[in-house]
Amino acid sequence: MALGTLYLVGTPIGNLEDMTFRAIAVLQRVALIAAEDTRHTGKLLQHFQIDTPQISYRDENHRVCAPLLLSRLQAGQDVALVSDAGMPLLSDPGEPLVAECIAAGIAVVPVPGPTAAIAALVASGLAGDRFVFEGFLPLKAKVREARLTALAREERTVILYEAPHRLRQTLQDLQTVVAGDRPLVLARELTKRYEEFWRGTLAGAIAHYAHQEPKGEFVLILGGHPHPQEVWEEEAVRLALARLLQEGQSLAIASRELALTVGRSRREIYQLGLQLQTDGDG
Ligand code: SAM
Repeated sequence: MALGTLYLVGTPIGNLEDMTFRAIAVLQRVALIAAEDTRHTGKLLQHFQIDTPQISYRDENHRVCAPLLLSRLQAGQDVALVSDAGMPLLSDPGEPLVAECIAAGIAVVPVPGPTAAIAALVASGLAGDRFVFEGFLPLKAKVREARLTALAREERTVILYEAPHRLRQTLQDLQTVVAGDRPLVLARELTKRYEEFWRGTLAGAIAHYAHQEPKGEFVLILGGHPHPQEVWEEEAVRLALARLLQEGQSLAIASRELALTVGRSRREIYQLGLQLQTDGDG
């Protein structure tokens, strides 16, 4: 018996008119829709008069749900996977299910639709020819710091997702690791009534949100590291720093100034300065 197909269906990120004809047709045709949140998707289905049955599917209930979905697919039925908004798998559930379907020889077919990352990137005005999608930064301190440090030297445009209540902290964290300032675009409430693009720099964004509460959904588009070849050797940074400190500059100010020219972050330089001071004391 022929196997069914798993369709990965993109759905609107705010504006229902972004639903594609093909998405509607596929959601009507499949035997079952695996949805991140059946109540949320229920509203979408109702709007488009689709009465296909749904089942809840999230990575957390994968172990329970996947066997059921696999058995339907193996019995020749088609299944569509949708998330609350945008493309499934992009910071949304689906990865283990897709992996298992591929392993089982089941066809996995994308039905492309809107995604906040690409909508934000293309209208940002920043380079779209080479970019990296980072999704949400990890919350655990160590992993987060490692990821941020890697991003500091990233030459490609970086796309990040962030929740409004964490936006300020994330901007601050980025600022401590990147050398100098960087172009930054905040794409807010894409495709919705209050869609907004704030274009400026990382430091400017921090100042912008110092006095107002970030509200709505955000994508951050960070310009890549402009001169990765100009990262100074650690010894050269140490010498330049030692000179500034000898001239009486504070470590905080010297680190900030050097970060503009040596291709290293303020935090890295500050740490070198602390080492210098300890060595000097010893
Ligand atoms: N899979 C989705 C996609 O393809 O864009 C992303 C899902 S992820 C759980 C949700 C995050 O995407 C939000 O926190 C926000 O960063 C971003 N996002 C989703 N819709 C958005 C919108 N309309 N405007 C701006 N950002 C949005």
